[in-house]
Amino acid sequence: MALIVQKFGGTSVGSTDKIKAVAKRVLECKNKGNDMVVVLSAMSGETDKLTGYAREIQSIPSLREMDMLLSTGEQVTISLFAMAVKEAGGDAVSLLGDQVAIHTDSSHTKARIKKVDTDLVRKHLAEGKIVTVAGFQGVTDEGDITTLGRGGSDTTAVALAAALEADACEIFTDVEGVYTTDPNICKTARKINRITYDEMLELASLGAKVLDIRSVGLAKRYKVPLHVRSTFTENEGTWVVEEEKKMESMLVSGITYNKNEARITITNVPDQPGVAAKIFLPISDAGIIVDMIIQNTKAGDMTDMTFTVVRSDYDRAMKLLEKIIQDIEAESVSCAKEITKISIVGVGMRNHSGIASTMFHILAKEGINITMISTSEIKVSCIIEEKYTELAVRSLHEAFALDKNNEPVEEENPEPVSE
Ligand code: ADP
Ligand code: ASP
Ligand code: MG
Repeated sequence: MALIVQKFGGTSVGSTDKIKAVAKRVLECKNKGNDMVVVLSAMSGETDKLTGYAREIQSIPSLREMDMLLSTGEQVTISLFAMAVKEAGGDAVSLLGDQVAIHTDSSHTKARIKKVDTDLVRKHLAEGKIVTVAGFQGVTDEGDITTLGRGGSDTTAVALAAALEADACEIFTDVEGVYTTDPNICKTARKINRITYDEMLELASLGAKVLDIRSVGLAKRYKVPLHVRSTFTENEGTWVVEEEKKMESMLVSGITYNKNEARITITNVPDQPGVAAKIFLPISDAGIIVDMIIQNTKAGDMTDMTFTVVRSDYDRAMKLLEKIIQDIEAESVSCAKEITKISIVGVGMRNHSGIASTMFHILAKEGINITMISTSEIKVSCIIEEKYTELAVRSLHEAFALDKNNEPVEEENPEPVSE
């Protein structure tokens, strides 16, 4: 007998028929003698709908009230799921994050899990029930409801699996596993059978939303093997595991895109010591995460500063910046929301030159302009216009031969370009 944590995402529980099908599948697993803990997301589109309601009332709502609102989506699915299990002849109980309890800090809308209690879950399991837990939510020491950030149900599942020392954690979704790129926009994307935590962390951090990045971090830390698989087939999916000797070290393991950022530019910033701190300290104090930063040197004593923030933080960032630019006597602040960060990722890049230049060459061939670039040992990211996302993903996927093999690519651009 095993203890299994299964998580089903929004599309997997997007209608009452789908909830009934999931209940049947879980019950079959339970009837084989396993203890089952089932983490559910809200029905697909529901969290967006709730966010839309809030925006109709206030442009910058209180984050505490946002959490109160957003956490309701998961309450719907867990209660319906428990009913569906009972209707199918089993027994189940639904629990909210604060009932479990999943303790978090108080950073509303992006709370971090501090501790997960297991007593109540274990008590219900011992009574033979399937325990279904609302994903994406927790509770502060003061008793306020929090949410973990978009896609956070994956993290709930892994945190529960770690706390319960579960034998397996399965993430059920609408695709068959982790692919070389998003299979919904690139038909030749190839399913990866096994991937290391580190590579998955990199893919997730750059936009492969099939797994929430914090869930991968937790899985790595607590050595929880993750199995990402489809709700709609029985096929084996992708295992996210520790590095194994025989694993292929791919040059480029995947292409990701992230449409979730906005670019902000402050022009004519006086180029003096301390100016970057004056811009970014208040932003980080407000809990706003800044991703790429570029500072241009101009003639005279002025500079331009360009950076990206998560799109949902854009309004708050702009409000802060209106004041900041007055303090630092910069000229103006402007922004572009219709951008995408497109990245190529692979641990094998460490020892190869020419990967970034190949990427730039491929994008140039398609007439796609790059407005920001950032590189690390194992990734290259470019900011491009959002409308070119699919074209860029497909062209890069083909250029790096991700549909075919894992051999180093032949560079299309024979000219050496320094990186
Ligand atoms: P869920 O609602 O089940 O949590 P998500 O929408 O969060 O599902 O994640 C699954 C989606 O992730 C897929 O439908 C796919 O479009 C997208 N995706 C992006 N990159 C990848 C990738 N590399 N491999 C698999 N899916 C990906
Ligand atoms: N319902 C939340 C969201 O849409 C959490 C999740 O699905 O993981 O982001
Ligand atoms: Mg998800």
